[in-house]
Amino acid sequence: MKFDTQLIHGGISLDQSTGAVSVPIHMASTFKQTKIGEAKYEYSRSGNPTREAVESLIADLENGTAGFAFASGSAAISTIFSLFSSGDHIIVGNDVYGGTFRLIDNVLKRTGQTFTIVDTRDLSAIQEAIQDNTVAIYLETPTNPLLRISDIKAISELAHRHNLLSIVDNTFASPYVQKPIDLGVDIVVHSASKYLGGHSDLIAGLVVTKGEELSEKIKFLQNAIGAILAPQESWLLQRGMKTLGLRMRAHQSNAQTIFDYLKTQDKVAKIYFPGDPDNPDHALAKQQMNGFGAMISFELKVGLDPEQFISNLKIITLAESLGALESLIEIPAKMTHGAIPRNIRISHGIQDELIRLSVGVEDIADLIEDLEQSFNQLK
Ligand SMILES: *Cc1c(COP(=O)(O)O)cnc(C)c1O
Repeated sequence: MKFDTQLIHGGISLDQSTGAVSVPIHMASTFKQTKIGEAKYEYSRSGNPTREAVESLIADLENGTAGFAFASGSAAISTIFSLFSSGDHIIVGNDVYGGTFRLIDNVLKRTGQTFTIVDTRDLSAIQEAIQDNTVAIYLETPTNPLLRISDIKAISELAHRHNLLSIVDNTFASPYVQKPIDLGVDIVVHSASKYLGGHSDLIAGLVVTKGEELSEKIKFLQNAIGAILAPQESWLLQRGMKTLGLRMRAHQSNAQTIFDYLKTQDKVAKIYFPGDPDNPDHALAKQQMNGFGAMISFELKVGLDPEQFISNLKIITLAESLGALESLIEIPAKMTHGAIPRNIRISHGIQDELIRLSVGVEDIADLIEDLEQSFNQLK
């Protein structure tokens, strides 16, 4: 089955008992057992048919063994890190989501897990960070907000040579654009609040595992920790995912046109977009991705005020988050990355003038016109 067909017919896609083409929302907390222990479902934290439908769909889309749905991307990530114990060492990409960094720095370090932060574009830096007690490599590609690309295949090969788990947060790409498990990764995680949900109307997280052993471990933790996705949200997420292919093609096409436009704008100093042929990660992006995603970051020339630029936009919406139908724009230094001390942020390459744009699926002519009128007012 091709990807767009999988989105609609993959996993459990209809109601077996009635033939309804939309999976029902099963609001039950518990299920009648015909004999003690003889039941497909027992209790909705351990398993719920509506949640199972979306879990089976994401497992199919990522070509994994099993899928798991959580109350948020952060809940999914916390559950993954619960695989590890005190004394375990994990290598983490230096550009990971702020909430992931916060989880590591303020929660997981207290449990006795240890971490080394590296630029995962640099294979030798990863190699050097490996210790006797290293158990996993955790990374994002493309990263936020500079959209840097790491070589998933090379990193998972390195991980396996050293008996480490490789884990990729695939939120910025979505399985339409990138399939980490096909490139050798063991665990994929998504904030489904972004492209997978797609409509800025839900918070959810998804995990996909490769292999039975790892799947059993995550299944155990999902039930033990209990940060599951509720039935209503599971249904809404599956409904959103059905149009992922349609949306990603529209997102990516709009992003390409906006990139071409920004290149001609003399008030723009620098553009970060893996689709840029001059981007150092372009060749790698082309190799491991199906398109270049729809996130673009750019810096205004020094002295131009990004806040003024954003406040003059009429359609493109000032908001955190990404992957929505609406184009969303933000200033990382003041918003998503505001908690990082300025000197560290600048050393990571996130300048005060940087703007991050999640390109939506509005008519491209309106988006370009909106950008143009705001550039024209900028002095
Ligand atoms: C938003 C996001 C998360 C966290 O997901 P929530 O659903 O907000 O908890 C994790 N990783 C990335 C890359 C994200 O963009």
